[in-house]
Amino acid sequence: MRTAMLVCLLGSAALAACATGPAPAPASSAAQDPGPRVEWGLVIHGGAGSRTPPGWNAEQRAAREAAVAGALRAGHAVLAAGGSSLDAVQAAIVLLEDDSTFNAGRGAVLNAEGRNELDAAIMDGPALRVGAVAGVQRVKNPILLARAVMERSEHVMMIGDGAEQFARLADIELVDPAYFRTQAAVNDLEREKASERRKRDSAAAAPRAPPEESSAARINSHYGTVGAVALDRQGRLAAGTSTGGRTNKRYGRVGDVPIIGAGTYANADCGISATGHGEWFIRYTVARDICVGVQYRGQTIAAAADSMMFRVLDPIPVDGGVVGMDRQGRIAMAFNTASMPRGYIGPDGAPKVWLTR
Ligand code: ASP
Repeated sequence: MRTAMLVCLLGSAALAACATGPAPAPASSAAQDPGPRVEWGLVIHGGAGSRTPPGWNAEQRAAREAAVAGALRAGHAVLAAGGSSLDAVQAAIVLLEDDSTFNAGRGAVLNAEGRNELDAAIMDGPALRVGAVAGVQRVKNPILLARAVMERSEHVMMIGDGAEQFARLADIELVDPAYFRTQAAVNDLEREKASERRKRDSAAAAPRAPPEESSAARINSHYGTVGAVALDRQGRLAAGTSTGGRTNKRYGRVGDVPIIGAGTYANADCGISATGHGEWFIRYTVARDICVGVQYRGQTIAAAADSMMFRVLDPIPVDGGVVGMDRQGRIAMAFNTASMPRGYIGPDGAPKVWLTR
C-alpha cells in the first residue's frame, strides 16, 4: 500500500497507472522516467536479487523500504544544504553498509572460505576522480576507504592488506571481521555450497554436460549490493557502489563494483551504479556503456539503461539492474530480476521507494 502510494508521486507515467488504482512499479526505466528536468536529486538501489520472487514477509519488506527511504533522506539532507553529490552518495551508502539487510558492510555475503571480502568504489563525475577498494576484510565502511583512496592517495584502486594499511593511515575505522558476519549470510553460503555439490555430482554422472555459465541458473538469495548516484545543486554527478560480492566466491575474487566502467561510473553527463552478476558486468563494461549511450548516441539515460539490461544482458541471460542519473537529473532504474529495492528523492524531499516490479 505504502509502495503503491509512493509510486503515485513519481511522475506522469506512474500517475497514469495510479489513475486506475495502485499498480506495481515497472522494471524498465523508460516507464519511470519523470520526464523533463527534475533538477538535483539522488537515486539508490539495494541490490537486484534473482529472478525468483524474494518471498519477503511484511517485516522484511518494511525493513527494506525504511532503509532505502532513510538513505534517500540522508543524501537529500546533504544536497539540500548545498553539499556535494559525492557527500550525498557517501552518506546514503554508509547507512546501507551499516544495515545488515544488505550485501555491503555488515551483512555482506561470505566467500567460499566463510569470510567477508568487501569491494567498493566512488566516482566524481565532472573531475573523473575515482577511488576503489577490493577484497578488504576489516574496513567498517568500504565506501569511506574508496573515498580516501580517491582524495588522499595518488591511486585509483587499492586491494586487500595494502588497502587496510592505507585505511589505518587515513584514520578509517577498522573492525574485527566478525562484525560483518550474519546468520543470513552463513545460511546463504551453506545453501550455495549444497547447490555446488549437487552440480558437481550430476556433472560426474554426465561428464559431457556443459558447465553452467549464465547467472540465471545460480542460487544467490542474499543479493543486496548497494549503490547511489546523485546530482547536486552545482550540477555535479557522482556515483558509488558497495558490496560483499557473491556468496561462495573464491578467495581474492573481485567483482564489477570496484571496476570503474563496469559496476560504477560517473562523468559530467551521466552516473551509473550497477548490481548483478559482476563477471558479466565487467565483460560488458555495463556502467560506462550506458553512459556512452547518453554521451555519444543521443540516448536518454532511461533508454540506454533499458537497452543494456533488456537487449544485451537479459538474453544471455544475466541477472541484474542499474540505477542512474543524467546531468539534468533524469533518472534510470532498470532491472530484469524479480526485485530491486530502489528509490529516488528530488528537491521536494519526498522519498519514492519501490521493492519489486
Ligand atoms: N555485482 C556484485 C558482484 O558481482 C554482486 C551484486 O550486485 O549482487 O560482486
